[in-house]
Amino acid sequence: MHEIDSHTAVCGLLGYPSGHSVSPAIHNTLSEQLGINMVYVPLAVEEDKLGTVIAGADGWKFPGMNVTIPYKEKVIPFCSELDPFAEKIGAVNTLVRQEAGGYKGYNTDAPGLYRALQEEGMDPLDKEVILLGAGGVAKAISVLMMEKGAKRVYILNRTVEKAEKLAEECNRIAGKNLVIPMALSDYKNLTGSGYLAIQATNIGMFPNSDAVVIDDDSFYEKLDAGFDTIYNPAETVFMKKCRAHGKKAVNGLKMLLYQGIIAYELWNNVSVPEKLADQVYEKLCGILGTGK
Ligand code: NAP
Repeated sequence: MHEIDSHTAVCGLLGYPSGHSVSPAIHNTLSEQLGINMVYVPLAVEEDKLGTVIAGADGWKFPGMNVTIPYKEKVIPFCSELDPFAEKIGAVNTLVRQEAGGYKGYNTDAPGLYRALQEEGMDPLDKEVILLGAGGVAKAISVLMMEKGAKRVYILNRTVEKAEKLAEECNRIAGKNLVIPMALSDYKNLTGSGYLAIQATNIGMFPNSDAVVIDDDSFYEKLDAGFDTIYNPAETVFMKKCRAHGKKAVNGLKMLLYQGIIAYELWNNVSVPEKLADQVYEKLCGILGTGK
C-alpha cells in the first residue's frame, strides 16, 4: 500500500450500517497495483447527516464515493448533476467530484452487469430476456436491457403491481412496448425458448441459500443461460438448476467487480487492465471463499 501522506486521496462507501463490504478490497488493491495514492474506507452515515457528509467530502476534495443501501435514491438531491443513465433509473451508486466542486451521480451497477454479461458470452442483443424481480437493481437492469438491444423483456415479480409500474416506466423511456410485466407464476405462459434469465431478487442469498425464486424444472428448460445477481453463495440454487438442464449459469461477483472498477476509472481517469481485473477477482473469491 502507498504510504499515507498529505496527498493521499480519500474515497469511500456511503451506507448504513457499514456492514461487511468487499468494496475496500477492490479499490485498495487497484490503488496498490496501479501505484495510485488513494485510500478507500467504509463511511457509515446516518440518514439525517447524508447532506452534511457529502458537503464535508467536497470540502476535503474526496475524488468520489460509492453509495449503497439505503441511500441509492436518497443521495440524488445532494448531487450537483446526474449522468443521463442514473437520471433515467433514479438511482446513484457512484459520486464523482467535479472540478468546480460538487458531485456528479452515476450508476455503475448496470454497466458492471453488462461488462460481466459480455465477458461471459451472454450479450442481451436480440435476446428475449426474463428478469426475475422488480426492485432497485431490476430497474437498472431493465433499462440497460432496452438500451443494449434486447428484443423483449419479461419482468416477473412477486408483487405484480411493482412489475407493472416498472414496465410502464421502461416502455415510456423506450417509446415502445418492449417490456411486459407478469406475476412470478406466469412463467408457464412463456412458450418460447432460448431466453436469457437474470435473477434479481434476494431469494437464494446467504444465509437462505436453499431458496430459489422458481423451483419448477420446466422453467429452466426454456432458458439459454442464467445470470444470478447474487454472489454469495457462489452457486445459488437458481444456478444449480440452470446447470442441471445443461444451461450456462454465472453468479454476480463479476458484476460487483466491474461496478467497482468502472467507479475507480471515473475517479482516477485511468483504464484498469483486464489482467488486473482478473487479479482483483481472484482476491474477492479468496475473501468470500467462493468461486465462479
Ligand atoms: P430490492 O430493491 O429490495 O428488491 C428485492 C426484489 O426481490 C423484489 O423484486 C422483491 O419482490 C423480491 N423478493 C424479495 N423477497 C422475496 C420473496 N420472499 N419472494 C419473492 N420475491 C421476493 O433489492 P435490490 O437492491 O434490487 O437487490 C436485488 C438483488 O440484487 C439482491 O439479491 C442483491 O444481492 C443483488 N445485487 C447484486 C449486486 C452485484 O453487484 N452483484 C449489486 C446490487 C444488488 P417484491 O417486489 O414482491 O417485494
